[in-house]
Formats: sequence, C-alpha cells, structure tokens
Amino acid sequence: MTTGTTPAGAAPLVGVLALQGDTREHLAALTACGARATAVRRPEELAAVDGLVLPGGESTTISKLAVLFGLMEPLRARVREGMPVYGTCAGMILLADKILDPRSGQQTVGGIDMIVRRNAFGRQNESFEAAVGVAGLAEPVHGVFIRAPWAESVGAGADVLAEHDGHIVAVRQGNALATAFHPELTGDHRLHARFTAMVRAAG
Ligand code: GLN
Repeated sequence: MTTGTTPAGAAPLVGVLALQGDTREHLAALTACGARATAVRRPEELAAVDGLVLPGGESTTISKLAVLFGLMEPLRARVREGMPVYGTCAGMILLADKILDPRSGQQTVGGIDMIVRRNAFGRQNESFEAAVGVAGLAEPVHGVFIRAPWAESVGAGADVLAEHDGHIVAVRQGNALATAFHPELTGDHRLHARFTAMVRAAG
C-alpha cells in the first residue's frame, strides 16, 4: 500500500470517499483550504491520496458500498498505517472501533477507540443547529446536526474535542478526526483547515 504520492512542498492530495453522502461540499471546503481535493471510489484512487474525508450520509449504505467496491480492507489498512482521516456524522460512525447499535451488515473502518450511538439525538431532535465549542478553536463552530451520532465513550488514547449537552460530538485519536456535525455545510472551514494541516504534517 502506498502512502500518498505528493512531492514535498506541493499541496496535499486529499480524497473524499464518494460512494454516498455529501461529497461535493467536502471537496469545496478542502479546495478552499488549499488542498488538491479529489473523489475516491476505487482502491487505486485511495492509494494515491495523502488524506481522506469520510462524508456524512448513511453509514450502513457507505459501509456496504465500501465492501462492494473493494475499499473496506484498503481503507482499514491505510487508517491503520496512519493516513490522516476526517469523518463527519456517518463518517464519524465509520471511524468508530465499535457501533453500539449497528444495522445488520454494517461494518466500520475503525481507527478511533470509541463507541458510537447512531441517530443518538433521537426523533424529537433529529436535526438541529447549535453553537459548539471545539478544543483549539477560539470561537465556537456552528454545529449542524442531522440524525447525528454521539460517542458514548472514548478510550484512553482518544481526545474529546467537543461536547454538546454533555454528549461527545468531536474526537481525535492520532491522525483520525471525527465530528458528529457537518462543518462542510456551513462555509466555516476551520475544521477542514485543521485537517488539511494534519495531512501536511503527516506528509
Ligand atoms: N444517521 C446517519 C447514519 O447512521 C448519519 C447521518 C448523517 O451523516 N447526517 O449513518
């Protein structure tokens, strides 16, 4: 498995897993942060990127398509090898080592020692927006939550970056970053900028 192909000093090539979900918004946010952004659907495309975003969407669908497209094992391998990866919402679910309430056939890529609960905020509060303070950002982000998960618990190696109503909604472990909310929908690129910096630092 290669570890990206970008020469030193060049803009990093950052992929967005484009099997299902809000791929386009992530590509735009990454481009705004100075990355070369590209859709990833095939193992060869995954092998070429320096970092990867797992978008929001439907985590069961994405996981089934990843298996179908022969991407699940390569994804696990690259995350294990330390490729920077950022998951939003469904992407956060995919990065969890364990899903509390998986649907049948649902698998995870893993990479963050946390247990997530899907659709955690429940029916009454399926989708909402709230200011969320994130560790390392001076001003809160405008959190857009759409049938969002939360992390029930995180392991010792994972850092909680944000909570909402006492629930964990942003986590980082090594080169893996996850948010339950969708910064790509807000025009606020601070978290994509942070992720792009993680990719540059790893490269
Ligand atoms: N609830 C969705 C899931 O289980 C995630 C929703 C989202 O990504 N906005 O995958």
